[in-house]
Amino acid sequence: MLEQLRKSDTLNVVGELAAGIAHEIRNPMTALKGFIQLLEKSMAGQHQMYFQVISTELQRIETIITEFLILAKPQAVKFDRVNINDRVKETFDLMNAQALMHNVTMHCDLHADPLFIQGESNQLKQVLINFVKNAIEAMPSGGSLRLRTLVEHNEICIEIKDEGVGIPEDKIKKLGEPFYTTKERGTGLGLMVTLNIIKEHDGRMEVESSVGKGTIFKVFFKRSKHV
Ligand code: ADP
Ligand code: MG
Repeated sequence: MLEQLRKSDTLNVVGELAAGIAHEIRNPMTALKGFIQLLEKSMAGQHQMYFQVISTELQRIETIITEFLILAKPQAVKFDRVNINDRVKETFDLMNAQALMHNVTMHCDLHADPLFIQGESNQLKQVLINFVKNAIEAMPSGGSLRLRTLVEHNEICIEIKDEGVGIPEDKIKKLGEPFYTTKERGTGLGLMVTLNIIKEHDGRMEVESSVGKGTIFKVFFKRSKHV
């Protein structure tokens, strides 16, 4: 099962709306967080559970806004020569602890040569983090998560392979649709942001999945011609 995904039309419309809405929500959010912290202090340990819920929900709103803001940004970013191996290693180091907490063992196989593309480091990191987070979330009872970089037909490929729940064939086309999520606490924005960034980098994504066995996401980029 192999499918190539492009959702450019939906992405542009949402992207334009995103910046405005996200900025408008961010300011009152900051005020809310501050005052709730003050309130919690003045309550001296009372109603702990309520504050816990409030804080989790505020965090959730923040995640949604952050993902929206990343969507809105791509027009203004500056592309440089980026070694994909460095970004993958960085993501591995960053996410390893979180993976272990969920009984997920991460592996990282990097191509021996540096793999250069034209891109924006932070956005590429965001893409990798999104894949790794989804992979961890797909393995509720743990498993192995493999990150790999390779060259296929002169294209650079990043593979993110998990042993998770898998994605049913008829749901593959929904990946990257705004708000498509199968998780109780999901935003359904991660893959939309991810696909948008990949598109901005002139790349593409492929998915191979088998329900109950796991999923491989493959991201392809063109090699940088600048030396
Ligand atoms: P969220 O993670 O908030 O649900 P995403 O856009 O990141 O939103 O992912 C959308 C949906 O795609 C997920 O809810 C899940 O159903 C599916 N998905 C993404 N990655 C994986 C994966 N590695 N294994 C299984 N399902 C996945
Ligand atoms: Mg996600």
